[in-house]
Amino acid sequence: MLRTAAAARRALPSVDRLLKLEAVALLVSRYGRPLVVETIRALLDERRAATADASVASRFDESGFMAACTARLHRETAPSLKPVFNLTGTVLHTNLGRALMPETAARAVTRAMTRPVNLEFDLGGGARGERDSHVERWLRKLTGAECALVVNNNAAAVYLALNTLALKKEVLVSRGELIEIGGAFRMPDIMARAGCKLLEVGTTNRTHLKDFAQAVSARTAAIMKVHTSNYAIQGFTSAVPEPELAALARERGVPFIVDLGSGMLVDLERYGLPHEPTPRAALSDGADLVTFSGDKLLGGPQAGLIVGKRELIARLRRNPLKRALRVDKMTLAALETVLRLYMNPERLAAQLPTLRLLTRPLPDIQAQAERVLPHVVAALDGTAEARAITTHSQIGSGSLPVDLLPSAGIAITGTGKRRGSLAERISAALRALPVPVIGRIKDGAFIMDLRCLDDEAEFIGQLGRLKIDRV
Ligand SMILES: *Cc1c(COP(=O)(O)O)cnc(C)c1O
Repeated sequence: MLRTAAAARRALPSVDRLLKLEAVALLVSRYGRPLVVETIRALLDERRAATADASVASRFDESGFMAACTARLHRETAPSLKPVFNLTGTVLHTNLGRALMPETAARAVTRAMTRPVNLEFDLGGGARGERDSHVERWLRKLTGAECALVVNNNAAAVYLALNTLALKKEVLVSRGELIEIGGAFRMPDIMARAGCKLLEVGTTNRTHLKDFAQAVSARTAAIMKVHTSNYAIQGFTSAVPEPELAALARERGVPFIVDLGSGMLVDLERYGLPHEPTPRAALSDGADLVTFSGDKLLGGPQAGLIVGKRELIARLRRNPLKRALRVDKMTLAALETVLRLYMNPERLAAQLPTLRLLTRPLPDIQAQAERVLPHVVAALDGTAEARAITTHSQIGSGSLPVDLLPSAGIAITGTGKRRGSLAERISAALRALPVPVIGRIKDGAFIMDLRCLDDEAEFIGQLGRLKIDRV
């Protein structure tokens, strides 16, 4: 026994000998020497461990070894960031990359990536230019603001505004608006990190103008309103209307900042969607600065947009943190393209993928569910049952939390006692497909909301590879 195991280990070739093979040379030219050496070592180690207690010494199978080596290199060098099917029912899914952008934006990004661009270069005067200028003119037109500025995301926008205008001073916020937006973004924490002191005003459900009026003092640097985008307080509630807060701020000589969160540039109601406040309305209600995201309802790249008074934007621009939070040329290229689409609202729903998905008519999604269903049934091969259902999509990313969009999809359920674990196994099997399918589990059923299913043929085409673990 011992002798045969030792013999088997001796039968394994050395790394150096393998590297001389022609097949390995091909792998080296494709994947690079370090990765190939690492993979060969790892596979040899595994063989050695496996033969340690083998009773029969098998001959080294060179072609089998090479096939395993190639497969592993292929798997380990595949992109980590890759497309998935978002069938979660949440259109703007933060974990799945939020907004989808139009091809025109992708082309603009490619151009900016592969060629020199006038990022900070004024072609008129031949001197240094301002990188935000490429999008500022559109933001001004679309919001009516005097000036605009762009940073990495809306969290950065809030941070920069507070740090610039309220360092070591107080910012007044209603208690009902001290939100957490998932992950590490909690308004009180951002305020603390920005170096400001948060002064909570009013109560959780009701805050009045007089609460703000009493709270303003010589230490106050700003009054802030946060759009409670990911929850709604219902019942006995009261919030101070923006024009009244703006008037109070003006009277006391402090800026009034509005964090809109999503902030849509056009009125969503014209597309049959629920109302969402616009930066233009916030500014005309008297806000001095408005912050919002680029990749939520706006449907563009990750960015934080700040629009408002010239003098305040100029102060933000002079803050050294602006340099740390600035966006790169790819973001600006995509953002410029997307903002430009807003100049033609009639065609916006056709041109902006996020808005197109949000406005997809229910009968359209239902018809798709009926088309897709037989393919899902066939792929399940009797392991579970599937049926077409009506469901509700969410806009997501904290936008409009209580407004659900009627949608359609497919529910997969098992029978008997193993229902729950079946949904988990279906979910895992769909995630393991070449283009992973992400759905959601509800009441023991695996649900796929088809609102965001664009490439139906690709989805159906890979279903034949579905492998569900049987327990
Ligand atoms: C989403 C959101 C933010 C954070 O925006 P990001 O672009 O994700 O950084 C801040 N404030 C509100 C009200 C939001 O909804």
